[in-house]
Amino acid sequence: MSSRKIVKVGDPVLRQQAKPVTVINKKIKRLLDDMAETMYQARGVGLAAPQVGVSKRIIVVDVGEGLWELINPEIIFREGEEVDLEGCLSIPGVTGEVMRASRVRVRGLNRNGQQQVITAEGFGARAFQHEIDHLDGILFIDKALRIIKQE
Ligand code: ZN
Repeated sequence: MSSRKIVKVGDPVLRQQAKPVTVINKKIKRLLDDMAETMYQARGVGLAAPQVGVSKRIIVVDVGEGLWELINPEIIFREGEEVDLEGCLSIPGVTGEVMRASRVRVRGLNRNGQQQVITAEGFGARAFQHEIDHLDGILFIDKALRIIKQE
């Protein structure tokens, strides 16, 4: 495992539509390992592959309840809405108030190609929505009701 460089806002890779993964090979597994390492080292709760410069539909999320690795994730159900603060490892020094669904169900593949269905609420639901947005080139600052810049 090794930590990779986190791409910052302004880099075009963050605005691309990421490509679905068709084959889960060694390279993809290595990427998953590196993404988790990079996320933990940066003390983030989620990371999407475009944030390490790879335009593929892969995310990792850990909101303190264990690591989720998801390949080709999609939100298959959402309900409720809530506004809360969020930030992004690719946009240092900025937080914003963003409206998100309060509960989501997410489907995707694990590294063994098995389908996973995860139901998440609150902060966990927020993390999945934020990371999946990255795969469509969407950043939280696009959706924020209010942006807060830290000194
Ligand atoms: Zn982000």
